[in-house]
Amino acid sequence: MERLRWRVAAVATVGLALALEALPSVLRWLRAWRRRGWQSPLRREVLFFPSQVTCTEALLQAPSKGPSGPPAGCPCSLPHGESSLSRLLGALLAARASLELCLFAFSSPQLGRAVQLLHQRGVRVRVITDCDYMALNGSQIGLLRKAGIQVRHDQDLGYMHHKFAIVDKKVLITGSLNWTTQAIQNNRENVLIMEDEEYVRLFLEEFERIWEEFNPTKYTFFPQKKRNH
Ligand SMILES: [Zn+2]
Repeated sequence: MERLRWRVAAVATVGLALALEALPSVLRWLRAWRRRGWQSPLRREVLFFPSQVTCTEALLQAPSKGPSGPPAGCPCSLPHGESSLSRLLGALLAARASLELCLFAFSSPQLGRAVQLLHQRGVRVRVITDCDYMALNGSQIGLLRKAGIQVRHDQDLGYMHHKFAIVDKKVLITGSLNWTTQAIQNNRENVLIMEDEEYVRLFLEEFERIWEEFNPTKYTFFPQKKRNH
């Protein structure tokens, strides 16, 4: 009897100590929760590259029509888990209304397919890019234009060197990564994915400013010759 009472006291003491230990984090969580109200937590994520090479077919496959049920597993030999690239694709493919892309270099076939898929789904896609890089072999820009996606580019000597995307005017994706297979698979790069009203607003303003500045009605052809007049 005496022994049991001692045991109960020990358990109670340990329980109390644990509860006190956890109290500050519980309070912090409660404060944050009260500030945000009932919204789901805002997305904040960073992806680091190089990305492990994984199969992205499951993400890029248009949903199959007909009562064939779930698609069978992909038979290719690549790993089918998550990678930085698959997470980046996932963040883009979440778009339902709009996608703004402002990219110096765009030649990754997977990212190109994702953007075309969104265009097919009726998402309004606008692309700003650099005139020097888009002329290179392997650039996705020609394919995007052919698919009917609006693209505008610079005409200056300075590079249009941004690398950012805005999903549904709600999520900003930005970092050092050029959208090329070379960068995705070989370079050390970072990409932030964040749901932040203020940053989205500022980047969207920058996008609209450049979009207007690169309006094709303002293009001058053969600027070198013109300058000689
Ligand atoms: Zn596969």
